[in-house]
Amino acid sequence: METRCLICESTLVVTKAQAQAVSLLLGTLGGFLEGCSEMPVQSDTHQNRDIGDTFQMGLERLTRAVESATSGCAQGWEFAQDVQRYHFGEFECLCLRCGARFDQQPSVVFQK
Ligand SMILES: [Zn+2]
Repeated sequence: METRCLICESTLVVTKAQAQAVSLLLGTLGGFLEGCSEMPVQSDTHQNRDIGDTFQMGLERLTRAVESATSGCAQGWEFAQDVQRYHFGEFECLCLRCGARFDQQPSVVFQK
């Protein structure tokens, strides 16, 4: 399904729900990556590690990253609320080309 802008007819149109999904995804991914980078790698002990130590470090890092992803998701939710409030207002669609905001109309929705 393709939505065109009412003003410039561009197909670079984002719906409120899509913007929310992207905000949540970016917040969650950002939190996950931040959690991954919080545990410094100790290079001096790196050579003496056995597979069990490496596995445990991986699990600890993964656990921290998932916890951080949860926090990032919450931040993404707040960001999504701001995007909806400040960029969409009461409208459902935002054109990324010309900035027009509008609601989807049955006459402007095309299907491929
Ligand atoms: Zn437009």
